[in-house]
Amino acid sequence: MMDVRNVIIIGSGPAGYTSAVYSARADLKPLVFEGSVTAGGALMNTTEVENFPGFPDGIMGPDLMDGMRKQAERFGAELVADDVIEVDLTVTPKVVKTATGTFHAKTVILATGSGYRQLGVPNEQRLSGRGVSWCATCDGFFFRGQDIVVVGGGDTAMEEATFLTRFASSVTVVHRRSELRASRIMQDRAFANEKIRFVWDSEVVDVLGDQKVSGVRLRNVKTGEESELAATGLFIAIGHDPRTELLKGQVELDDEGYIKVEAPSTRTNLDGVFAAGDVVDHTYRQAITAAGTGCSASLDAERWLADHD
Ligand code: FAD
Repeated sequence: MMDVRNVIIIGSGPAGYTSAVYSARADLKPLVFEGSVTAGGALMNTTEVENFPGFPDGIMGPDLMDGMRKQAERFGAELVADDVIEVDLTVTPKVVKTATGTFHAKTVILATGSGYRQLGVPNEQRLSGRGVSWCATCDGFFFRGQDIVVVGGGDTAMEEATFLTRFASSVTVVHRRSELRASRIMQDRAFANEKIRFVWDSEVVDVLGDQKVSGVRLRNVKTGEESELAATGLFIAIGHDPRTELLKGQVELDDEGYIKVEAPSTRTNLDGVFAAGDVVDHTYRQAITAAGTGCSASLDAERWLADHD
């Protein structure tokens, strides 16, 4: 007979593991696909996390995720470090495939997160969490009295730059064009801020520094001329992409590829399919908000199962 799980969770960031803790404690015996390379999610790429409640002295990102993983395992979640490569969520039971097997479940929780766009330059990854950041809300506090570079020309870049002036001595926005993409109001706010200056028509081509960021190498896209700019922080604000490749033609997505849910619930347009964390969230994109919606998804799945038994 076909083995049909109560719940399969796809994703292993704060959203996926929190869903796993709740589902396991509800005795639903969740099966969690964590991903092969990136198990643990976005926080595996950072150092200190100071804003996750309950850790007054901060905690290293990988330690936080290891704790969540162990907590899920302790209550009986089955964790598998494989990538889901195909799904059919429109049938009953739902079908989830990895390279090694086909699995079935009554409900599925999607928590695949989103990826920050990277510059793709040397040393960017090596210095991630050591001065290179993708999140001013997360890391701005570490840069009190320092000189920071922000890359990007959209609303997010202007918002990050403006926010960072609370802490930084100076913020230099590097943009590869001669004008911004950001809305007028965000531009005006940034232009009016004395701590922000702009370097136009320029790209960051390398991140400098041994243990920590000490500067960036810039190239002027018009003249080809290269120069170095001293800074101890580099914030990359060029956008992010939800990981929903797998779900196209299945669950309803918005124009930017994020999963649509009936907020404040985590219900998608497909019966028995729920979504949580950054794969849904354009706005907040924090570990605690991902964990929060992960909890909601588990409770939504639990109620769905109770109603359909
Ligand atoms: P993610 O953490 O992105 O996890 C999703 C995971 O699911 C993926 O990594 C992968 O392992 C798995 N997955 C994806 N697709 C598949 C698939 N097809 N099959 C199987 N598994 C799959 N937030 C804070 O609150 N505080 C901070 O200090 C902070 N610092 C940050 C520092 C950095 C460098 C970054 C990048 C982010 C930081 N954030 C911070 C943001 C925070 O990490 C995210 O908001 C949060 O991790 C989102 O959680 P998530 O569970 O939705 O997704």
